[in-house]
Amino acid sequence: MHFPSREAALPHRRLPRWIALGWVSVLSFVAWRQLPLAHASHSHNGSYQVHVSTIHGNDGTATSPGSQDEEYCILSHTAAVNATQMANLIEETLVKLSDSQIWDGTGEWRVDLWRAKKFCNEFDSASRAAIEIEYQIANSWASQCGGDIYSCVVQDNPVVDPVNGHTHFKWVYSYLKAEHISGNLTRARKFINHETGHILGLKDPDYSGHCMNSVMHNDLYSSLGCTDPVWHPTASDFTSVKKIQDRRN
Ligand SMILES: [Zn+2]
Ligand SMILES: [Zn+2]
Repeated sequence: MHFPSREAALPHRRLPRWIALGWVSVLSFVAWRQLPLAHASHSHNGSYQVHVSTIHGNDGTATSPGSQDEEYCILSHTAAVNATQMANLIEETLVKLSDSQIWDGTGEWRVDLWRAKKFCNEFDSASRAAIEIEYQIANSWASQCGGDIYSCVVQDNPVVDPVNGHTHFKWVYSYLKAEHISGNLTRARKFINHETGHILGLKDPDYSGHCMNSVMHNDLYSSLGCTDPVWHPTASDFTSVKKIQDRRN
């Protein structure tokens, strides 16, 4: 069991909103100006890599997923959210917005996300085992994520990549705290996109000040000084995932 990548919600700001926004703008600009050109530690690398094993290839068609595509299902454990609405929100965030803001299609469609036709627990076990990604929703993931305040991603079923021998994972679970994806739509999309970045192999910031224009290094990590409010994957994020897909990370 490896400690999961996880994140909590932003603390409430005490400053009047216009002052806070003013500082965010200034700090974002400064951070942008000081961005290094390369981010060597942005993804897992080496012999053990946390990402879903299907991201290196693409063998589906326009109408049905192939064995190298990524199928996902949704499962809610709480009455605090409407499971169908949440499934629609997750699908919309992953595949239905503008190409520059969604993970679907990354790396010439080697990321090709397909929503399963039913909730995860409505499949028989053999069919469910063929689904690569599960987005599960609950009021608390304390036992999975190491604390009541966190959403996190956990991997299971390690397999060895036949091309260069790194270990990656057949199943990846995004455990979403219901409160993180309720209420504010932009904040909900931010959590969904961040956790999906983990599914595709990206990491959280490694140290205080490890900030950039990235859905992995945004203001979900205000505790490490990151202030960028970006809620969708960025050019830097797409580049990092393509390197993983190409086995150049
Ligand atoms: Zn994270
Ligand atoms: Zn891999």
